[in-house]
Order: sequence, then structure tokens, then C-alpha cells
Amino acid sequence: MKEKLRKNLDQVIWNIEQARITISEHNIVQIVAVGKYSDEENIKTLYELGQRAFGENQVQQLSTRMQNLEELPLQWHMMGHLQSNKINKLIEFKPSLFQSLNSLDLAMKLNKKLLEKNKKMNCLLQVNTANEANKSGVSSQEAFDLYQQIQETCPQLKLKGLMSIGAHVNEEKIIQQSFEQTHKIYDALKKDGATICSMGMSNDYELAIKCGSNLVRIGSKIFT
Ligand SMILES: *Cc1c(COP(=O)(O)O)cnc(C)c1O
Repeated sequence: MKEKLRKNLDQVIWNIEQARITISEHNIVQIVAVGKYSDEENIKTLYELGQRAFGENQVQQLSTRMQNLEELPLQWHMMGHLQSNKINKLIEFKPSLFQSLNSLDLAMKLNKKLLEKNKKMNCLLQVNTANEANKSGVSSQEAFDLYQQIQETCPQLKLKGLMSIGAHVNEEKIIQQSFEQTHKIYDALKKDGATICSMGMSNDYELAIKCGSNLVRIGSKIFT
């Protein structure tokens, strides 16, 4: 399995390299390896291969893995819908970045709990630029204003930028438009301190990078 993971990771790194230099030599793209289809053994192996950032989409799995792999200096990302009853657990484990802040309501609840515990959390606002009803995230129309509103009213949340999931369609043009939309909002938010534009998964990360992504979340293309 180690050789397989090495090959996968090398391939992904190579593809990212090709895509990122189309933007600029200085455009650095972070890889978050999403382990939800895989196990701790493989995460450990990827660590040995040099990978440091890992993501999960469930708080339960995130906390178990953070605990079991505690001895490794890993950076953990949470990127799935957060149910209100899991807020305390997320705060207890404190990932380095919570990527899926997807409503003002959640922001206020999270802020309140963080305040009680005198803690802060790095977050990305999730935007549904694909405009798909089954996808979570704030709409692209409200994203800009909401970002500023959260910054003003939720001081325990450290907003670092945006996250979005590309349109779930086959036409590349449509996916590209959703990434361009996210990047446009991100650009406008740079003056408010946004530094992370998280877009791109296994099937569309190269396109996402060409549209300005600087963080890709890759699961199946690394782990399987
Ligand atoms: C699962 C997941 C990924 C990775 O998916 P792949 O298509 O396997 O790369 C990325 N982002 C989020 C939010 C996910 O839930």
C-alpha cells in the first residue's frame, strides 16, 4: 500500500505543479488529504511520505483520528456539515481550520460556545457557488456581506477565507464558472484579510487551481 500511496501522492503533486505555474511561480497551493474513505494506517503512511494536512467531514471521525494519531505533528481540517450538537466536541478538539462554516446561525452558535470557553477558531465561510439546492453553504449573493457581518459580530471566529465545492456536473464550463464565482468573492474579501481560497477535489482540482484556488481537498485520488 505504501508504494500505491506514494505513487498517488506524487501524481497529485505533479499535476498541481503543472496547474499552479499557469497562474504564477509564487502561487503556493496547499494539499489537504481527505481521509474519510481510508484508515489511520494510511494516514500514518502519508505522513511518512511528507504529507502534513489531513481533513475529515465528520466530527466523530475527526476526533478519534486526532486522538489516535496525537503523537504525529499533523494539521487537521474539518470540512463537513457541523450539527449543533457537535459544536462542543469540535471546540474540544480544535482543528487548525474549520472549513465548512455554512450559515450565520451556525456562526453565532459557534461564537457563543467559544466565548464561554474563552477560545477561538480559524474558519472558512462555505459558499454554494454551484447554486445546487442539495449543497450546503451561503449563496454567492450574500457571501460578501455575511463574511463581514460574521467578522463584526463573531469575534471568536477567525475568518480566513472561503471554501466551496465545484458544481456536480460533467460540463467543465459550468464547474469553471462556479470556481470563478468563488474566486471573485474571495478577491473582494482580501481587503478583509481573506488568505485562503479552498476549492477543488479529486475530479476538479487542476481546474480549481487554474481559477485561483490555493487549497485543494483531495480524498479518492490520494487514498484509493
Ligand atoms: C470528501 C470530501 C472531499 C474529497 O473528495 P474527493 O472527491 O474524494 O477528493 C473534499 N471536500 C469535502 C468537503 C469532502 O467532503
